[in-house]
Amino acid sequence: MASYFDEHNCEPLADGETPNHALHLARLLLDTGLASEWDMEYNRVFGGEGRAPPASKKAVEELETKLISPAAAAEGKKCPICLLEYDEEDEVKILPCRHQFHTGCILPWFNKVNSCPMCRVELPTDDPQYEEFKKQKARAKQREFEINTLHDSMFG
Ligand SMILES: [Zn+2]
Ligand SMILES: [Zn+2]
Repeated sequence: MASYFDEHNCEPLADGETPNHALHLARLLLDTGLASEWDMEYNRVFGGEGRAPPASKKAVEELETKLISPAAAAEGKKCPICLLEYDEEDEVKILPCRHQFHTGCILPWFNKVNSCPMCRVELPTDDPQYEEFKKQKARAKQREFEINTLHDSMFG
């Protein structure tokens, strides 16, 4: 079976650009007619297992919001999801990683996924199990770091 992306040939990539599947998925979400296909496509691209829950409503509400100023509009920057240039007075959300998207483009994404579609930096979720899993992962990393540091101080 040909994939959705093959059939719809989303956005041609510029030279040297790596395909960003997350952005493609975010784009698909803008078309509400694709809601049922979307989960399938997500699982195909990222694997169904270990799928992160959506971003917490509170975290999304607390994201920095900004209106595009005339000066910013003149720069001709594009929203990475819809690929349209930002217009004066467009409302955008600024993520903790400083990536910015139209409010209307990023909100459907955060209803499904908890990470920035550009760089995968995560927002908190409302899922206690997932938050616990994240904490344990961070602790394991910290331990690994401490062991390596200890190793370096003994043998360095
Ligand atoms: Zn947009
Ligand atoms: Zn980002």
